[in-house]
Order: sequence, then C-alpha cells, then structure tokens
Amino acid sequence: MSTMARGREFEFTLPLGYTDGEGRVHRTVVMRKMTGKEESILADKRYQRNGGKLVTELLSSCLLRLGELEKTDRSVVAAMYSADRNFLLLKLRSITFGSELQANYTCPACRENLHVTEDLEDLPVKAMSNGDSPEDIVVELEDGYVERDGQMHTALTLRLPTGLDEEAVASQMHQNASIGKNALLSRCLKSLGEIPRHRLEALGPKILSDLTMTDRRLIDRAVNQSAPGVDLVRRIECVNCNNVFNTTLDLSHFLALE
Ligand SMILES: [Zn+2]
Repeated sequence: MSTMARGREFEFTLPLGYTDGEGRVHRTVVMRKMTGKEESILADKRYQRNGGKLVTELLSSCLLRLGELEKTDRSVVAAMYSADRNFLLLKLRSITFGSELQANYTCPACRENLHVTEDLEDLPVKAMSNGDSPEDIVVELEDGYVERDGQMHTALTLRLPTGLDEEAVASQMHQNASIGKNALLSRCLKSLGEIPRHRLEALGPKILSDLTMTDRRLIDRAVNQSAPGVDLVRRIECVNCNNVFNTTLDLSHFLALE
C-alpha cells in the first residue's frame, strides 16, 4: 500500500458494533474518503426519496473493513444500528470535507436566523463498554394505550433501530415526518404491557398514533437519553435576544457538494 493510499484510509471504533451470525461483535472500522463514485451515489435519483438506502449505499461503498469480517457488503451496513451508521456518516463527512459544518437555526423566541459553524469532532459520543450488548429502551407511559375493552397498557419496550428500519420507513418519513416516526417506532416496538406479540404487529403504527402527545414526548426523551452514539442535541444562544435553546444539529448541508 502506498503512503498516499493510506492517507485516504481512517480507522474508527463504532459506538455499538455489529454482531455477526455467530454472535461475535465487530467494532473496528476502516473507511476511505468519498470519491467521484460516492458523488454519483449522492446525485442518484433512486436514493433521493430513500435516505436509509442512500446511507447504506454511501457507507458500504466507503467501508473497507469491519472488525474480523471477510466481507462488508451492503447487507452488513443495512443491518448495523442507526447509531453506528450516523456515527460513520459524520466521520465520512469529516474525513472527506473536514469537520467544520455551516448550520442554520431559527431562534424559537424571536425568529432570528442564526448561522453557526459547528465542529463535528466536538460532538460527544456515547459508546458502549466492551462486552456489553445494547439494551432495550424502556418507557413507563403516563396515559398509556387503551384497548377497546378499556384495558390500559403503560410499560413500553423498544429495541434500537437499524438501517433496515430506516430503509423500510423512508418513503413515509419523506412524506410526513410524524407518520414516518410512528412507522419506525412501531417496527422497533418489542412489547407494550400485556398485549400479545401478534396483536402488536397487527395494530402496528396505529398504537403510536393513538398515544397522547404527553406519552409521545416521554418516548422521545427516553430514546434521546438512552440512545448510544453521537449526541446531536445542540445548545444554541441567540445573538439577537440572548435566548438559549436546545435543538438538533442541522445536518441539511451535511453532504452538500460545495
Ligand atoms: Zn432570539
């Protein structure tokens, strides 16, 4: 390998890791910078309506090695946790275009447009300790899900989403972010009170859309708090009115080809 080729390759440790068919966890990743090949993936119309597929395609194209795996094709990248995929996507941006990112926010108090230079390398990463496996997200709902016979269920368990989940709900997400989120959460819903598995699956996203906004906020908080990976919550101070607010990192210009 020449020096130049090595300068294009970078090694990272995944916050969670990929578990193969034999139960082994792989966390060391070698990626290369994006090239013209990925530029054409970004411009490909087939992926513009499916962000999940776009990310799978980009990452698998630039992924050179994953732990001890012999092959790292798109099926591996699709099966990775969303937290790991987002982590790699941010790294891919950093190694290719640098870690500085122009972000725009709107102050919720005075509507001032705020232009902020973010540094992707400064974002905190919550990683698992070696040997630990990711835990389900448990939420105790306040209002709960009420069945027709009046029975109420409040204990909700979610598993962490993967690339396959992102791909499956991408078209709904594209049309309506709220409906997309219901679809994603219902795919990840492992249990809700005493509702049997087959009934959970039959009810699907309807369960999520029936929950009160109080409960939906509890779920959001639990997901954000327990979620491993890169913390995208930003604390921004408005230069106009000094209001301080929390928001999610603006990634809209994230892979813009400038
Ligand atoms: Zn303001």
